[in-house]
Amino acid sequence: MFDDMVFGPLYEKALNLTPLDAEEGFALYTQAPAEELIFVADRLRQVHNPGKNAGWMIDRNVNITNICFSQCAFCNFCRKKGSPDAYITTTEDYIKKINELISLGGDQLLLQGGMNPDLGLDFYVDLFKKLKDLYPSVRLHALGPPEVVYLAKKEKLSYTDVLSRLIEAGLDSLPGAGAEILSDRVRKIVSPAKATADEWIEVMRTAHQLNLPTSATMMYGHIETPMERIAHLIRIRDLQDEKQNGYYGFITFIPWPFQDEGTVLRKKYGIISGYNGPDYIRLIAVSRIILNNIRHIQASLLTVGKDIAMMALHAGADDLGSIMIEENVVSAAGAENRFSAEDIKAIIAGAGFIPVRRNQKYEPVD
Ligand code: SF4
Repeated sequence: MFDDMVFGPLYEKALNLTPLDAEEGFALYTQAPAEELIFVADRLRQVHNPGKNAGWMIDRNVNITNICFSQCAFCNFCRKKGSPDAYITTTEDYIKKINELISLGGDQLLLQGGMNPDLGLDFYVDLFKKLKDLYPSVRLHALGPPEVVYLAKKEKLSYTDVLSRLIEAGLDSLPGAGAEILSDRVRKIVSPAKATADEWIEVMRTAHQLNLPTSATMMYGHIETPMERIAHLIRIRDLQDEKQNGYYGFITFIPWPFQDEGTVLRKKYGIISGYNGPDYIRLIAVSRIILNNIRHIQASLLTVGKDIAMMALHAGADDLGSIMIEENVVSAAGAENRFSAEDIKAIIAGAGFIPVRRNQKYEPVD
């Protein structure tokens, strides 16, 4: 089909779901004509998700605490212990916020926040148990590999022990938070106190062995090179290849651009977000092409906005994520997009797809 095209053999390989290597992925990302990339990615989207459905969901972000020792250079949200506006969310606040979530028809709580040195594993176990006792039907999509690494070190436990205790307490799925770019060169600058790339991967490997549903992410557009973006995708794909047949593994991949406003990266190092819409579309397409073993690719409506998200649905994405009631980390760094349930359905329909509300496991809920 692609006989007269320079990258024809790579397109054939991708459509046969044969893994591309880093050089091949890099060549497509940086040199292939956009219309060809988009065409191939859209075909692959159809292979993984036949039809015209595009997913979305309602969830609520609650930050457990804003105290964090990590002080990542892209984060405006975190506070040092003792800061006048430092907090740990109270039970009363959880109840108020979960009641609002339920009144809006949502059932998933995204629990994230800082790595507070005063909070150990028992704190999170007690919190999850309390929330599940109060709201048995609410799903907890909580923490992320850096917190698991931190808790394992603090408690001198294995990742398996930490995750098993959290699962027993009510953890339903593990967000791919803190992946940023899986390169220690990059991490030493943007998030030096956080888990290394290998640690992030090892926590996810453990979660997959325990059959805990997970997601994979990439926060890009700061100091990484295009090849480091591609290498990130390859590491995610190779880890997914290890998972046992029939286990969840990574359910979805979600790339989003660095939001620079007021961040240390911008103020101290002069790093301005390298985001632009056409490049985001190429990244979505090449993610779909390289991640031949991950069914869902999510465009980040919250950070890229309506127009680019609509185009992303034609370039390999099959989901626009959540209306995300109360998001504090990326909005603290300049992401200004806000959407209601009606907005997101209209955006998906406007792009020519059928909006399907789903849960965290990508099962339709309506
Ligand atoms: S991004 Fe997360 S880990 Fe990094 S400083 Fe902010 S709250 Fe802490």
